[in-house]
Amino acid sequence: MSRVLIIGAGGVGTVVATKMASLPEVFTDIMLASRTKSKCDAIAERIGGNRIQTAQVDADNVPELVNLINSFKPELVVNVALPYQDLTIMDACLETKVSYLDTANYEPLDEAKYEYKWQWAYREKFEKAGITAILGCGFDPGVTSIFTAHAAKHVFDEIHYLDIVDCNGGDHGKAFATNFNPEINIREITQKGKYWENGQWVETEPHEIHKPLNYPEIGPKESYLIYHEELESLVINYPTIKRARFWMTFGQEYLTHLRVIQNIGMASIEPINYEGKEIVPIQFLKAVLPAPETLGDNYTGETSIGCRIKGIKDGQEKTYYIYNNCSHQAAFNETGTQGVSYTTGVPATIGAMMFLQGQWKKPGVYNVEEFNPDPFMEQLNILGLPWVEVHEADLEL
Ligand code: NDP
Repeated sequence: MSRVLIIGAGGVGTVVATKMASLPEVFTDIMLASRTKSKCDAIAERIGGNRIQTAQVDADNVPELVNLINSFKPELVVNVALPYQDLTIMDACLETKVSYLDTANYEPLDEAKYEYKWQWAYREKFEKAGITAILGCGFDPGVTSIFTAHAAKHVFDEIHYLDIVDCNGGDHGKAFATNFNPEINIREITQKGKYWENGQWVETEPHEIHKPLNYPEIGPKESYLIYHEELESLVINYPTIKRARFWMTFGQEYLTHLRVIQNIGMASIEPINYEGKEIVPIQFLKAVLPAPETLGDNYTGETSIGCRIKGIKDGQEKTYYIYNNCSHQAAFNETGTQGVSYTTGVPATIGAMMFLQGQWKKPGVYNVEEFNPDPFMEQLNILGLPWVEVHEADLEL
């Protein structure tokens, strides 16, 4: 018997519910709860077989969450709502002594800034309550962090240079759309760039540093240095790292739209008064952009995300590239959503499996690289995100 509560019924929630439902030997009882219950019901109906129970919950409201958790009694809460809800869900988990997993670190609604400090502050409380929090268990953060842990354990004696490379070589046919929650996505990629070098953070202007990189099965794509949350924990957990950077591909058309959106103030998180009602421009923008879960139809091409690493093994310099390519069409055929939701939802499912099987279960708050990567890496190959290793690769970086 293992009971799991999923919170959030967007693109990622759809994949998590679908994958968990297909693994009855691990996930016996599944509840999907979100702000809009009809979305949960539609996902449950698509999956069928009465595998998924549904409920309405406002995840900003701790007492509501506590009531739901107490009535369903899960062993684990999987948070695939938005980063704004991380702390309220963690509070509810503490109150009910139920473990927690998420895919994105906490971000305050009124400040486009994400850091682990808010969630790391729960370490002692989770330890005392005897419950586990698994942070950042999507693809990036998530699989990229576990790829790094795998490399540290099996490939290198010391990791010196880490470049995480994230390419979406797909085409959804829309002039402009984001692959996951538009508000979170636009907040993330319009920030200043930042990377770790020689013991300190170096800041850049947004998209200031860029170069073409070659991605397997996709080819060359202009890749932009941006800040990404897994860098924060990786440089702490692997102190031999001299430089850690994150690169993401963007097309020219995407960047042009983004620039216009910013220039006309539509990316702003400051509330404005419109005809007597307060609205937040970026939230209004989200309402008019295509929902990420609707992008699957006709989405062609692949994502390719991985780690390019240089370090030392047996006194010799060594390079290594580990990556996964995921086809949008295959993801859609299996779950009804595109590859970006798929590459996030599958790792969240595997992380939940690791917890329920007792392999990733220890009181406290942990980033995924702090657990044993081996059983997780094995499940990636089984559950749809197989990985490829290239030793002595030309890293281009
Ligand atoms: P969506 O916007 O598609 O879905 C979010 C869901 O959360 C929606 O169903 C929404 O409800 C629900 N929700 C929002 N606020 C609340 C609330 N207060 N109470 C209850 N439910 C709420 O996002 P995605 O599925 O694309 O992304 C989900 C998460 O995954 C995000 O945190 C995102 O940052 C993370 N992510 C992580 C990645 C990784 O690789 N680590 C990559 C991509 C995403 P409603 O339907 O009513 O709006």
